[in-house]
Amino acid sequence: MVGEARDDRLRPGQNGRDRQGDRPDTGAGALHGGPHGASPGACRTAQALTAGPEKRAADAGDTRRPLPACPICGGTAFGPGPKGRMAPNGSLPRCAGCQSLERHRIFRIMFDRLGPESFSSWSALQFSPDPTIDPAWFRHHELSVFGGPESLDIQSIDRPDGAYDLVACSHVLEHVGDDRAALGELLRIVAPHGLLYLAFPDPFREAVTRDWGFPKPEKHGHWRVYGSDVVERFKNWIPSQPVLAYRGQDPVTGEWEGAFLLPRSPERHRWAVNRLGGAVSLFSGPALT
Ligand SMILES: [Zn+2]
Repeated sequence: MVGEARDDRLRPGQNGRDRQGDRPDTGAGALHGGPHGASPGACRTAQALTAGPEKRAADAGDTRRPLPACPICGGTAFGPGPKGRMAPNGSLPRCAGCQSLERHRIFRIMFDRLGPESFSSWSALQFSPDPTIDPAWFRHHELSVFGGPESLDIQSIDRPDGAYDLVACSHVLEHVGDDRAALGELLRIVAPHGLLYLAFPDPFREAVTRDWGFPKPEKHGHWRVYGSDVVERFKNWIPSQPVLAYRGQDPVTGEWEGAFLLPRSPERHRWAVNRLGGAVSLFSGPALT
């Protein structure tokens, strides 16, 4: 019945767990400006797709339709998120099966569209565990857990240049004192044709980044809240690096969230754009010609 809905997006259950306190500013809507875009292009994409709420309402009244299923594990049971929070629209955000939250499912769908079959020859390094990425996709998958025995210092990563085809860094950079150093290091260890996947709490909720210069305990240890002026950091710090903004919708709660993809070569750039179509737009850096 209901659990059969998500067809090709179904994946075996994951053991990944959400980071403690990974949900910043847990007040409803903290990460979600709704369909307010990651960039002008992404915003247009979001608006085009926000036929969602009406459609979802219609779906809710149609008992022939299956309930939304988790695109990661296929589960249809959901509960409150960290600290009991609900999604901004009042729905339950955490999958009882794989423990995913909205962003994990949104970014899983992005990776599904990129085509996990592409990753079978790839090596990957992931900072901080979450259910978005399935380690089984990769030839080699390495996980760095803050405070763990194999933890890497993201500001000075003890790995050679170009060591990984994919480097994944979701909801970590806001925990790092020197985010400029971290961004440089993340890009340094991506292979020449590889990809950096970068996400942090929705920077489009505020215009200006607030960086208070130390990790605030009441802000989950965050050093800063990124604003939409994060584009200036990209332009100033990595001017020759294309930064693609992706924006997607969680099929369970209907929430929107964005991530960034930083392809290291024109070929990888083209591949990402071809796979993700209108869901991505160039946020910073040179366009493909
Ligand atoms: Zn799930």
